[in-house]
Amino acid sequence: MQPILVFIETSQCEIKKPSLETLSEARRIADNIKAEVVSLVVGDNVSPFAKEISSCSPDKVLLVESPDFKEVITTTYVRALLEALNKINPLVLLLSATPFGKDLAGLLSAELKTSAIQDCISISYEQGSFIAKKPVYAGKAIITVKVIKTPAIITLRPKVFKLSVAEPKNVIIEKISVNLGADDRRIKQKEVVKSAQKKVELTEADIIVSGGRGMKQPENFRILEELATLLNAAVGASRAAVDSGWRPHSDQVGQTGKTVCPTLYIACGISGAIQHLAGMSSSKCIVAINKDPDAPIFKVANYGLVGDLFEVVPSFLQELKKTT
Ligand SMILES: Cc1cc2nc3c(=O)[nH]c(=O)nc-3n(C[C@H](O)[C@H](O)[C@H](O)COP(=O)(O)OP(=O)(O)OC[C@H]3O[C@@H](n4cnc5c(N)ncnc54)[C@H](O)[C@@H]3O)c2cc1C
Repeated sequence: MQPILVFIETSQCEIKKPSLETLSEARRIADNIKAEVVSLVVGDNVSPFAKEISSCSPDKVLLVESPDFKEVITTTYVRALLEALNKINPLVLLLSATPFGKDLAGLLSAELKTSAIQDCISISYEQGSFIAKKPVYAGKAIITVKVIKTPAIITLRPKVFKLSVAEPKNVIIEKISVNLGADDRRIKQKEVVKSAQKKVELTEADIIVSGGRGMKQPENFRILEELATLLNAAVGASRAAVDSGWRPHSDQVGQTGKTVCPTLYIACGISGAIQHLAGMSSSKCIVAINKDPDAPIFKVANYGLVGDLFEVVPSFLQELKKTT
């Protein structure tokens, strides 16, 4: 049986957690079909990551380690992935459906003249083919896709697949070298702008407190920031809040923002337009606070609070402070 190849994404000296969820899912599938799991990590100084990767039980860790990959650029990383695909000849390449993972999958599928199945919420291997499920029409329907050509290229939605971690063990580590051509270097990184505060990344957060137009003005997001700090949560926003300039676009949840799948999503002053629901309706528990009892958000909420958020949130904060 051909192996399963998993791309491990790193950022600012850390492994992106969704990559480890993807690796855990790869292990589960591989155990069922008796295949090997090979993980691939690319970068300037990536050997130290091998130990953490080994805690998700791959059979092998492939390293592409060179200053050429210090800058995280899709065209150079695609070259590294193509090299690994050539070497391993896997059944499937799995990546996490982060913005970078989706970018890589798209470019790779063009290079390989195959298709990339993006943002899947379930995968299985049945009778010689990968079957993947993914939401479509802004989350209104789920389609099942059968991948006929190998290698299949599939990205998995963060926080949907269970992370399985064991004691790190010795794992086979292999380095491969990749020679970049002029065409691979056609993009140059000019500047990396780091976020001012060390924030919990929206797509990786277990809890998200999100605000919409009902927040009325940017200063009012202070109460959501305070709530987020107490809950170790990230702050999200609707497009209305982002378009009003109250929050940065990186906070936007929805069809043209981020897709999130936290354990708890608290929507404050958000009506629940279909484009917003597209980004958050797969959250495990949704709490909506809205003064309009007919707001569509209540149709997807597990718990709904009809009330003024400027009364509800401060009193929730007060109660929470008593317990922390
Ligand atoms: C192509 C396209 C893409 C889009 N992409 C996105 C996207 O990615 N993400 C996104 O969010 N939207 C997106 N939109 C916009 C979307 O259609 C909605 O306009 C937007 O989500 C509305 O944001 P909102 O719920 O904050 O505002 P509103 O719809 O104005 O809702 C505000 C809510 O706050 C409540 N409220 C007001 N005051 C209070 C109070 N004091 N206490 C409690 N509740 C209160 C109101 O009852 C109301 O329900 C997109 C639209 C298009 C056309």
